[in-house]
Amino acid sequence: MKILVLNCGSSSLKYQLIDMDNESVLAKGLCERIGIDGSKLTHKPAGKDEFVLETPMNNHEVAVKLVLDALVDSAHGVIGSVDEISAVGHRVLHGGATYSESIVVDADVKKVIRECFELGPLHNPANLIGIEACEAAMPGKKNVAVFDTAFHQTMPEKSYLYGIPYEYYEKYHIRRYGFHGTSHSFVSKRAIELLGLDKNNSKVIVCHLGNGASLSAVLNGKCFDTSMGLTPLEGLIMGTRSGDIDPAVIQFIANKEGKDINEMLNILNKKSGVLGMSGVSSDFRDVAKAAKEGNHQAKVALEAYVQRVLRYIGAYVAEMNGVDAIVFTAGVGENDGGMRKAFCDNLTYLGVKIDDEKNKLRGEEVVISTPDSKVKVAVIPTNEELAIARETLALI
Ligand code: ADP
Repeated sequence: MKILVLNCGSSSLKYQLIDMDNESVLAKGLCERIGIDGSKLTHKPAGKDEFVLETPMNNHEVAVKLVLDALVDSAHGVIGSVDEISAVGHRVLHGGATYSESIVVDADVKKVIRECFELGPLHNPANLIGIEACEAAMPGKKNVAVFDTAFHQTMPEKSYLYGIPYEYYEKYHIRRYGFHGTSHSFVSKRAIELLGLDKNNSKVIVCHLGNGASLSAVLNGKCFDTSMGLTPLEGLIMGTRSGDIDPAVIQFIANKEGKDINEMLNILNKKSGVLGMSGVSSDFRDVAKAAKEGNHQAKVALEAYVQRVLRYIGAYVAEMNGVDAIVFTAGVGENDGGMRKAFCDNLTYLGVKIDDEKNKLRGEEVVISTPDSKVKVAVIPTNEELAIARETLALI
């Protein structure tokens, strides 16, 4: 059985076609600059040459058609016909407080995705367009929505309510939702398996450290707290996002520089984080290189990044009254042994001990703590596409 996984952004569409019989990727690719000049499809079929097509894509519907054409093409395709695709799994950013699990799309589901446009203005409209484009191109095939917020719906009120007047929660559903849920769910489940923990009596902290970054406290297999909030802006210092900040800073800069609230949020989302602090780059490799070459701002940006992660780990250990395992995933978490060492060197108060040789491994599943470490520490590569495909298969 073959499942197509789609992740639509405001001007992009990432896809993977996965053969669920052996969970292998048959093809993956990306449509970029949808609706803008210079649209491009990059299609990577397994075992065949990459295919690049530069052609106008006015909307996601055109992009979906081009993807389907590429998948069935006689030269660079991987299936004989679209009929071989059993269903489509869609990454949907925001399911609000309605969905705590993935669901087969129908008119009600589309209504909720639409109602959540305000909460995910860049992603939810694109996610819905992607779903409707698939409905148009492959009538009768099931589409499944897999929400980035769903895993965090088990958070208790004390974790998700902000310290603001309750009426804003009642009137506008202003609360913490959390994101990267598919990854936190996938990685925490795998950690429990890999480390032989008793799911019903387990305390796991997942550190999803990519360009966007978030931590979650997973108590007995369920999300208890997470670092992102109403939007992905809250929490850690990220590649380009500020993370936690005194809201008065926004008012202060806006007044001094004559900026409105939208401009300020753009700065906090896209020009802050290690990019803004270092003035070098949002890519941790570039910032680390600059720091090594003596760039003070770059050095401090990385130190602040590490400190914020440690702050959240400490907070979650306290909230759960302990921790059995700490797991690293995503771009930085999977690949950057130096960063992992910087975290673990400050976790000796928990009895964390890591094996420096194992910690040197990159991008693979490995337990990096020593056998006598009081807390297990592991690297588990995340695979959001596979998680979406598994959810889709389970629902059809
Ligand atoms: P996202 O999905 O949020 O865009 P990723 O999980 O792909 O992010 O992570 C991207 C980040 O991972 C980049 O900022 C990059 O700096 C970092 N990264 C990737 N490989 C390495 C590496 N070998 N060493 C350090 N950082 C890395």
